[in-house]
Amino acid sequence: MIPYGKQDINNEDIEAVINVLKSDFLTQGPQVPAFEKCVAEYAGAKYGCAANSATSALHIACLAIGLGKGDELWTSPNTFVASANCALYCGAQVDFVDIDPKTYNICPEKLEHRLAKAKKLGKLPKVIVAVHLCGQSCDMKTIYKLSKIYGFKIIEDASHAVGGRYLNSKIGDCRYSDITIFSFHPVKIVTTAEGGIALTNNNYLQERMKLFRTHGITRDENLMHKVPDGGWYYEQIELGYNYRMTDLQAALGISQMNRVDEFVSSRHKQAQRYDDRLKDLPIILPFQADTCYSSFHLYVIRLNLDLIEKSHKQVFEELRSKNIGVNLHYIPVHLHPYYQTMGFKSGDFPEAEQYAKEAISIPIFHGLKKDQQDVVIQAITEVLA
Ligand SMILES: *Cc1c(COP(=O)(O)O)cnc(C)c1O
Repeated sequence: MIPYGKQDINNEDIEAVINVLKSDFLTQGPQVPAFEKCVAEYAGAKYGCAANSATSALHIACLAIGLGKGDELWTSPNTFVASANCALYCGAQVDFVDIDPKTYNICPEKLEHRLAKAKKLGKLPKVIVAVHLCGQSCDMKTIYKLSKIYGFKIIEDASHAVGGRYLNSKIGDCRYSDITIFSFHPVKIVTTAEGGIALTNNNYLQERMKLFRTHGITRDENLMHKVPDGGWYYEQIELGYNYRMTDLQAALGISQMNRVDEFVSSRHKQAQRYDDRLKDLPIILPFQADTCYSSFHLYVIRLNLDLIEKSHKQVFEELRSKNIGVNLHYIPVHLHPYYQTMGFKSGDFPEAEQYAKEAISIPIFHGLKKDQQDVVIQAITEVLA
């Protein structure tokens, strides 16, 4: 099976992990701060707070912003469940804004319309999670402008978008957001096996995130309620978690970051090749906004089912039977049983639902060889013939 995504580990990566195994610290050593610095510098943000997953990073980002009971977080339904679950962890509520049918990201016009309505009802969201689907940025300038009018905070879920750019700046620089999240799961652009990071330019937010990452425990006297009575002293001042990344993971991450631009540029070459070779088939190819340089975490084709005499499921299964590891990103979050118990139902977000009936992610990753890509192209051409 040719998977839709896969990590690329070289000898330097392996060496970096072995070196940590031979060192004094497997966790809470020097690698994690070095990794945070490395990613923050790469992306152009002031601070990085690494975590054991992007899911954890989203959770502590929401906690740092102060999201809680009675608050709402809005995101797009076409994402991984973690982009929305982070609100529920905090006791807040989730709502969704439908996607733009061209970019598949949160639709800025629909967002504006919903905000105007919510304002009248006195139910404005506290946080918007802008998901950069497939690695292409949302319309951050518009979302930022709306945040100034309606007073919400912005978290970019850039789990897909490490190495991408928006309007001449790197995704992760937080120019149009409070916090940006990257994921380092093996199918993403660079990996730490499991891992994530929250980037910010706000010192208060990074301090709060680091507090929530480690049990809510502080050793900073300025934050303490009592006077320390000895060198052992620390205080728990919030209910936090153990969301730490290990030094093994951070060392792998530092080594992987050396190749992030290489990873993204080979994905671009593959995307270009798909664009050229699939353009005459009855499918919609990924739209690329001229404000964006995608990281191409995913290459999603959309079936034009009016012109294909097969169902979405049939095309999917035929590709799988030809050993092409296609996938769907994503089942709209509001259609999951857990979300339906909150009152969401089919038909609530028609663009995201329509997308999910037609979309197929096809293989794209750094190690995908040209002849493997030809096999993929051949299989899609045959199945859609
Ligand atoms: C992968 C992913 C996450 C979660 O990442 P983990 O590191 O696996 O927790 C969150 N949001 C999106 C959009 C993702 O694709």
